[in-house]
Amino acid sequence: MIEINNLTFAYERGKPILNGLNIHVPDGSIYGFLGMNGSGKTTSIRNILQLLKPQSGTIQVNGNEISNNSPSQRKHVGALIEAPSFYGHLDATDNLHIHSKFYGVGRNRIKEVLDIVGLTPHIKKKTRKYSTGMKQRLGVAIALLHDPKLLILDEPANGLDPKGIIEMRTTIQQLQDMGKTVMLSSHLLPEIEKVATHVGILHQGKMAFQGTIEELQNVKEKDLSLSLKVGQPQKAIEILAAGKSISKKHDLLSIEISKADDIPPIISKLVTAGVDIYEVKKVENNLEELFLTMTHEEKENAHSHA
Ligand code: ADP
Repeated sequence: MIEINNLTFAYERGKPILNGLNIHVPDGSIYGFLGMNGSGKTTSIRNILQLLKPQSGTIQVNGNEISNNSPSQRKHVGALIEAPSFYGHLDATDNLHIHSKFYGVGRNRIKEVLDIVGLTPHIKKKTRKYSTGMKQRLGVAIALLHDPKLLILDEPANGLDPKGIIEMRTTIQQLQDMGKTVMLSSHLLPEIEKVATHVGILHQGKMAFQGTIEELQNVKEKDLSLSLKVGQPQKAIEILAAGKSISKKHDLLSIEISKADDIPPIISKLVTAGVDIYEVKKVENNLEELFLTMTHEEKENAHSHA
């Protein structure tokens, strides 16, 4: 749904914020875009939405290259990138009606989007009496009016209380059930782990990790592992099995080890048993510190997007 290759971006006279960024958001995924505050998530999203122009690299949305001359691409995308603003003296329906004129959609769609985001029980209320979570969901409803295939939400959990966070999560899951692709950003790993199917971690202008949520769990659990490409993976597992944690993907084995000294005995065991070895790689988990910084709300800066 989104393919970004080798993107670089710098604000005027600044050093590059994005520097060789690659993002792959699969169709139908809930893609958690993680990174510390200030790492460049909003900047990336603004590039995708054509609100900023990259210095180099390519961005494809829904199979089409975007450029500043292709406004047609926007019809596939809905976005919530800042705290949404409404007419506080109007209710949700009237607020949506104002936006619907821009997109040329009818009353029925207004009802539908209110239902999707769970605001139907609150349609009589003036939006100034809405909680932050309800305002946020009305923002999602506006982004959904033209029925885009892709929805991009920048820090949708920011400023929400626990109940609001759960409601937002439910809305996101519902959107995926409807076949939409959702990209959401966050500076908190636990938040993303609860909802995402895929994860990308932005660090120093690049992706420090990108993969499925299962792959992320694998990386998190292991400090050190040995990656082996072998001719007879099943046989290798049988030989090494005792007391070792091994996962297999085709002819690639990933074996949990505690130190580099564990590697030679594993190799010699396999060679002795006649297993062909095509590749040996030591894989270190150097993301641990990054995971830690994204586990708790930072003291300063925590509400920079609120
Ligand atoms: P995130 O969304 O991950 O918190 P941002 O994309 O908002 O990160 O910001 C990335 C970096 O770009 C920060 O250092 C921020 O100060 C800087 N930045 C953001 N907007 C601007 C701007 N309009 N002009 C100059 N620098 C900016």
